[in-house]
Amino acid sequence: MPLDPALVERISAVVDATADEIVAFTADLIRIPTVNPPGEEYETCARFIGEALTRFDFDVHYVAAEGHPDHTALHPRVNVIGRRSGRHAHPLVHLNGHFDVVPAGEGWTVDPFGGLVRDGKIYGRGACDMKAGIAAAIFAAEAIRRAGIDLPGTIEVSGTVDEESGGLAGVKYLADERWIAKDKTDFVIIPEPLDVDRVCIGHRGVYWFEVEAHGRIGHGSMPFLGASAIEGMSRFQALVEEQLKPKLAGRLTEVPVVPPGARHATINTNGIQGGQPVDGVQTPCVADHCRAIFDRRFLLEEGLEFTKDEIAALVNEARRLVPDIRFEVHDKLIVHPTRTPDDSPIIPALTGAIQQVLGRQASLIASPGTYDHKHVAKIVGVPHCVAYGPGELVLAHQPDEYCSVADLVAATKVIAIASLELMSSR
Ligand SMILES: [Zn+2]
Repeated sequence: MPLDPALVERISAVVDATADEIVAFTADLIRIPTVNPPGEEYETCARFIGEALTRFDFDVHYVAAEGHPDHTALHPRVNVIGRRSGRHAHPLVHLNGHFDVVPAGEGWTVDPFGGLVRDGKIYGRGACDMKAGIAAAIFAAEAIRRAGIDLPGTIEVSGTVDEESGGLAGVKYLADERWIAKDKTDFVIIPEPLDVDRVCIGHRGVYWFEVEAHGRIGHGSMPFLGASAIEGMSRFQALVEEQLKPKLAGRLTEVPVVPPGARHATINTNGIQGGQPVDGVQTPCVADHCRAIFDRRFLLEEGLEFTKDEIAALVNEARRLVPDIRFEVHDKLIVHPTRTPDDSPIIPALTGAIQQVLGRQASLIASPGTYDHKHVAKIVGVPHCVAYGPGELVLAHQPDEYCSVADLVAATKVIAIASLELMSSR
């Protein structure tokens, strides 16, 4: 049931009155350069978020990813999670944002870590992906408190590390350690930047694999006496181009992935390495070794097993064509596709709140890549998860990344209203 319009009004008024504070908090977050890799200033950022949550009446815990290989003295992986309990333990709404950002890269006209606010935009690396989202989550929870509304359920806000590199020491760690768990957590909203009127209901699957070709070394002046692993790999690459890619282009998912090109299955060659290093001293040798890494993005309808079988068949075809070469396939990374169930109450809670705040209809989309939804869906086993947050998807990871203040304020309202509605849904 949509929230009482009077409550919507109250929350909106509080968020409007808090706008400057939300913007300043976002700019302060941007000024902490949490660059990943290698994972700079994580603990500083976790503490900064934790101090805000403490001020806002949350019980705060810092969760270091003990035992994780990337959790080192130089670059500690510290997550933060805050909980504010209301009348009941359930429903529990968990708002999760990653505070790591990708490196600034080149092409900036402003300081990427300056937190500049100009002409209604907050600039900096991570402005939209996703420090504005973290600010929106924290101030959405706070707006409910400042509006004097008793919490009907429980709200949690977490700031986590390493999403940009897979989230293993971040959301996956919180899931493995049961900070986020099926019997505790009812709803999860991840305020990733997907545009202020779009709700993201999942993502495609990932199958990263390595193909290794073993040939036979020989003298480069008599290459016919060896077997070139590079030539073998070229044959495999040709099969990918000529046989696989046309098939993938012909497959279309029902899931509303954006941009539309990503509604098809895709494959990319991440890297290829074979023979002698090209910048080293050369000797006349036939390459006996070549490796390549491929990134296959598969559709919910294809599934992992079918996807893997298809690659295995292609490798077998290469084996048949170049019997001199021994091919091996190694799995590197597997992410299953996720999709929020059509009848999940989290979808209408957000689309309804978007309608109430922005006065326009929300659209449902799915992500071409992956994000921490995968850990929530697969490890935690909570199906009621979506991504919704301020900022434009196309600005993420770009130079002069920014988030508009208007988006930030609107998304804060939407998250507050949707969270309150979900906590009231007992
Ligand atoms: Zn992100």
